[in-house]
Amino acid sequence: MREQYPWHKEVRQRLAGLRTRLPHALLLKGAQGAGKLDLAMNFAQSVLCEQPLAGGEACDACPSCHWFQQESHPDFRLIQPDALAQTEASVTDNSKKPARQITVDQVRALADFSNLSAHRGGYRVVLVYPAEAMNLNAANALLKTLEEPQGQMLFILVTHKPQHLLPTILSRCHSMPVAMPSMQASIAWLEQQAIDDPAKRLAQAGFSPLLAMDLTEESASEHEKVLRALMQPEQMDEFELAEQLKSKRVEPIQLIQWLQQWCYDLGSLKLAAKVRYHPDLQDSICRLSNGLAMFDLLKMQKELSIAKREAYHPLEPKLLFESLFAAYRQMLRIRAS
Ligand SMILES: [Zn+2]
Repeated sequence: MREQYPWHKEVRQRLAGLRTRLPHALLLKGAQGAGKLDLAMNFAQSVLCEQPLAGGEACDACPSCHWFQQESHPDFRLIQPDALAQTEASVTDNSKKPARQITVDQVRALADFSNLSAHRGGYRVVLVYPAEAMNLNAANALLKTLEEPQGQMLFILVTHKPQHLLPTILSRCHSMPVAMPSMQASIAWLEQQAIDDPAKRLAQAGFSPLLAMDLTEESASEHEKVLRALMQPEQMDEFELAEQLKSKRVEPIQLIQWLQQWCYDLGSLKLAAKVRYHPDLQDSICRLSNGLAMFDLLKMQKELSIAKREAYHPLEPKLLFESLFAAYRQMLRIRAS
């Protein structure tokens, strides 16, 4: 089994309660970084397990569990964008960019799977992750499958953005929210994982304990570098900074998140006199937000959300980095040096 997080205790119980009468389709929804995929994989394994434990969890010992762990269970399909399924080896071959969407072909390929009876005589399980990655054709193809329920077949849809799913799909799913743990619970968990300064790390990760775990030392040091530059916009050299970020392979989406958090705090300090993501840098944020016009801040935030939509296929990351830093300086009305 994958890791079981303490903050999933309640939702695990609710899932176990469904075991006697499984819905045809289950929707796990909640913010990204709450561990929904691990939860869904564990549940899928438990549904396929041939000797589940008293609490409903998978036994981790039967042949079914063994295949599941080897990612070769004949009655299980994981549907995800190619970009997520990529292994380290195939990433280096960037001749063709992997798809970030779930395609209609991936969903149609399920037809064979759902027409066969289960190899092991039990359930067949399809996990779609993340469900909002389905393009319209794929979503319509899935809808067709959901409209004609097969016996002993379970669809598990996992989504960070249920509002991006077709209402007709939503209405066919048994929906289950998966909440992010409280700040206190997150910090306690990160402490158990031996993370230094868990409160700070958690804020840097946008309050997801799992993303906080994933923050590498290197990424944390790039983040510090960017923060230092944002605090001193008068001295910022956007070209040099963009070059450094590029050489360290910082993802555009990562820089956009850092800037969004920083701008959030600039606005929050101005309007509500408090900061959320950078409690230790409040003085600098205060100094910068003093002369800041709300209009300029909103303009910057809009620019960031547009950049976020396009971040997965920017023309050239370095140019994007430069233009975002330039926009930041412009927001603070600092003339190009
Ligand atoms: Zn088992």
